[in-house]
Amino acid sequence: MKFNILTIFPNIFDSYLDETILARAQKTGFVKINIHDLRDWARDKHKTVDDRVFGGGPGMVMKADVIYRALENIKFQIPNSKIILLSAKGRKFDQKMAKEFSKLDQLVLICGRYEGVDERVAAHLIDKEVSIGNYVLSGGELPAMVITEAVSRLIPGVLGNKESLHDSGYPVYTRPEKFKNWKVPKVLLSGDHKKIKEWREKHTRR
Ligand code: SAM
Repeated sequence: MKFNILTIFPNIFDSYLDETILARAQKTGFVKINIHDLRDWARDKHKTVDDRVFGGGPGMVMKADVIYRALENIKFQIPNSKIILLSAKGRKFDQKMAKEFSKLDQLVLICGRYEGVDERVAAHLIDKEVSIGNYVLSGGELPAMVITEAVSRLIPGVLGNKESLHDSGYPVYTRPEKFKNWKVPKVLLSGDHKKIKEWREKHTRR
């Protein structure tokens, strides 16, 4: 699956994508993550990507024409594809949405900054506005990474041995059996699979 992320801060992504499961997923070819600098599609010599708010008010707004040119120029012509605008007022991202996205061939993620993005982008250029939670961040880069990771780990083959797709919801323990005075519940050491299953069902949190 291909991720195309549009941002004015492309370097933000480097270390996270070079480590973590996303590095391996890219190496093994299960995912391809391209980071695009929106300034490449600015028209003036200062590479302007934002402008003042019509009607007055503080802050700057990201320009629709720059985002339009980016979407036109990058080769996004993949049929099974969605363009997402990260926005605090968008639809709430959850595991169900992550599953839907993981079936696509391409996800384009547009990261806003400043006061947000010219409303004409939401109205005419994208498929969906998505929020990662009820709080306001300073930019869409962290939300884009959250979505990229949540979706990537659902793609068959991406997760290695150390992490499983199974989201158990019950408490898990490992060695040592006793640490300080804190002990692992006896039933988990008993080898009695029926009792272990019952214990896990009883302690599952959602
Ligand atoms: N009023 C703007 C809005 O509703 O998106 C706030 C702009 S915010 C300071 C700058 C950018 O951060 C937004 O354009 C968006 O891309 C991103 N952002 C902020 N909070 C977000 C959230 N909870 N989920 C997704 N993106 C968010």
